Amino acid sequence: MTHVLNAVAWPYANGPRHLGHVAGFGVPSDVFSRYMRMAGHDVLMISGTDEHGTPILVGADKEGITARELADRNNRLIVDDLAKLGVSYDLFTRTTTANHYSVVQDMFTAVHDNGYMVEKTTHGAISPSTGRTLPDRYIEGTCPICGYAEARGDQCDNCGNQLDATELINPKSKVSGETPKFIETQHFFLDLPALADSLNEWLNAREASGLWRPNVIKFSQNILKDIRPRAMSRDIDWGIPIPLDGWREQPTKRLYVWFDAVIGYLSASIEWARRSGDAEAWRAWWNDPETLSYYFMGKDNITFHSQIWPAEMIAHNGAGARGGEVGPFGELQLPTEVVSSEF
Ligand SMILES: [Zn+2]
Repeated sequence: MTHVLNAVAWPYANGPRHLGHVAGFGVPSDVFSRYMRMAGHDVLMISGTDEHGTPILVGADKEGITARELADRNNRLIVDDLAKLGVSYDLFTRTTTANHYSVVQDMFTAVHDNGYMVEKTTHGAISPSTGRTLPDRYIEGTCPICGYAEARGDQCDNCGNQLDATELINPKSKVSGETPKFIETQHFFLDLPALADSLNEWLNAREASGLWRPNVIKFSQNILKDIRPRAMSRDIDWGIPIPLDGWREQPTKRLYVWFDAVIGYLSASIEWARRSGDAEAWRAWWNDPETLSYYFMGKDNITFHSQIWPAEMIAHNGAGARGGEVGPFGELQLPTEVVSSEF
């Protein structure tokens, strides 16, 4: 008997989910769990709704309700749909629980203490009326290269060039129509280049295992070639506070959804263990090198599961180029397989 972790991608709670979710990884992950249980393995299948980030804030503003109210409503719709489908999760939770906040903050502290979370000054766009970050894709303007009037802050769909929002001519917020204000702002970046060698070593070993679909492993190895530090905090008032003096008090600096949502696999396992009456039971699925862990997702999310989440675990374990101490969750085991059924 082996411990098998079935980590199923977290549906984003900005609306009800559609059939693509169910067909893409909902049914495959459920079939997998049922098979593994019948084969006599000890399966822990967890997931939940992913409830932070800008799209939920923007959606809530449009309806004149709070982000929490929108997330509550969509969580109920999604839970209800999954229950009716009869999928066999051991726990389906959410990223807005006190347990998740505490696990994410402990992960941040471990990664920061080991030197893999670096502070940088960046340029960001904010909405002058709300003071909130305006992500590049919510800014529209004229392309400085081809003159197309509806280019986005991240790219121009007409000429295909990648853009920086500061380069757009007559930039406008797609949310409010206002002209965004560009400011200098301090943020924390996950130092992915310092974790790249360890990621590469892990990916090579996974490739040698022959388990992964060739396209998924190729894609994951390719994105390592152009690896850069990635911002893990935002000027936003909806998210998990940054657990450092001088930061936790700031109401508009929060950990971004990219950092927190992937930690849900660990926090959900910890919540499941506590509910089961044995608070340490989760460790059998996370600290034992013999455990098998399978992550099911759509192809848009491969980067988060073959790069961001393993990088966070390597940083927590103190196993990147800068070394470090093993964090409070013990030596976390990297994914056995990242499964995208869309390739
Ligand atoms: Zn263009």
